Amino acid sequence: MTLHQNGAMPEGAVIFSPGNSVERETGGWRVNRPVVQMDRCTHCMICWIFCPDSAIETGEGKFLGFDLAHCKGCGICATECPVKCIDMIEELTLLGAATEQGGR
Ligand code: SF4
Ligand code: SF4
Repeated sequence: MTLHQNGAMPEGAVIFSPGNSVERETGGWRVNRPVVQMDRCTHCMICWIFCPDSAIETGEGKFLGFDLAHCKGCGICATECPVKCIDMIEELTLLGAATEQGGR
């Protein structure tokens, strides 16, 4: 059954092709943004293992940051980080700070 065959939607959630989350930018769903204290990060990569959206950016075996186009802000990385160097900050707070700085 195609998505709109006879004007009807298929029942339930249907994933038509696996591994397609990278094609969908879901960062706009986020309420809280992960922010890392990079000087405390040990590059253990536990956050990379646990992130359900593959939104941890890495390079040469090191943590580099977050892919904010795909991070949904679930906070799992902050919970699992063994040294607790990830804080979940409200997007509105961060946007407010950016606006204030831009207005100076
Ligand atoms: S889990 Fe924490 S310490 Fe480990 S790589 Fe991620 S941010 Fe760094
Ligand atoms: S908040 Fe969730 S989706 Fe975003 S980087 Fe952390 S674990 Fe991944």
